[in-house]
Amino acid sequence: MPRMLSQLPDGILEVKANQLHQFVDDLTLVELKGRIKRPIFISILQHGNETTGWDALRVYLKRHLSRLPRTLIILFGNVQAAQNNVRQLANGVDFNRCWPGQRPNHHPVAKKMADITEFLKQQNPLASVDIHNNTGRNPHYAGINAIKKEHINLASLFSKTIIHITSPDGIQSGAFSEFCPAVTIECGMSGTADGIEQTITFLENLCRLSNLNDLPGVSEDQEVMNIFAVVKLKKDMTIGVAGETREPVDFEIPEDLDYHNFHQLAPGTVFGQLQTDQTPMPITVTDAMDYDITEQYFRIQAQQLQLSQSVMPAMITLSPQAVQLDCLCYLMRPLNQQKPLQ
Ligand SMILES: [Zn+2]
Repeated sequence: MPRMLSQLPDGILEVKANQLHQFVDDLTLVELKGRIKRPIFISILQHGNETTGWDALRVYLKRHLSRLPRTLIILFGNVQAAQNNVRQLANGVDFNRCWPGQRPNHHPVAKKMADITEFLKQQNPLASVDIHNNTGRNPHYAGINAIKKEHINLASLFSKTIIHITSPDGIQSGAFSEFCPAVTIECGMSGTADGIEQTITFLENLCRLSNLNDLPGVSEDQEVMNIFAVVKLKKDMTIGVAGETREPVDFEIPEDLDYHNFHQLAPGTVFGQLQTDQTPMPITVTDAMDYDITEQYFRIQAQQLQLSQSVMPAMITLSPQAVQLDCLCYLMRPLNQQKPLQ
């Protein structure tokens, strides 16, 4: 069983995310008893520079700590990375890729995550909430890993924008969705007031609920979006943002490309400028089966990368580093809920 504190260290609610390391270690569990015994699991700061989870949770706890409506089990994630305001330490791992998933992972962090998962499974939580931020302009949205009524209801308490996510492997909500309703909430850019406010409201509403089965009128009209493809930069290509590049790059994206996130775009929408009329296709689009479907969605015209059919992108990032490490964006479409929800 992983070590778990039965109360918060004195003074912890007064400090910001970058000082938490003075109070708790990485991956510290804290159980706070409430009126309803069945707990809710809340995970914050798996990525050290995504502080909204802590910003919101400490407001909620200051309000309710003397009489919590429900038992909470809190996981403090990467507080060492939070100290330096980075996603993860340079020599460290991405915590939110280390949870039990499809592929075996023998890293010591993964071992701890497996212990925590097994322990929480035995606690039979009502729900699991993992709080994140992203770079780039996105609406606040909720990610779920299973298309089930309770999972959709949980997500809809946070946002009308719900995405069904099936990758990457090893994320927290993926592991927990095997045994309880689980959600990853994405609260916009880190530390912004509206994201914190929305998260506090979400916690207020969720912790008072007796169950997630009956939220009248919620899941019936809820549209869930499905990510069906990922857009990556080709390995040998360079990328930059218009107005910021010092040296010529193969592919330059407009500085407001992320405004397109979560909008249905028309064919012809420009995703960027190519350096010369000889520059080949700078990106690859692959579907869930890893098939290359670039040609179906993008074309080169007048030295520009354009959409060749209508599609909705999500999580476009303007960070060249993030594009190189991960991807430029994802493509989504509505998930048809033909089967009745269980
Ligand atoms: Zn994150």
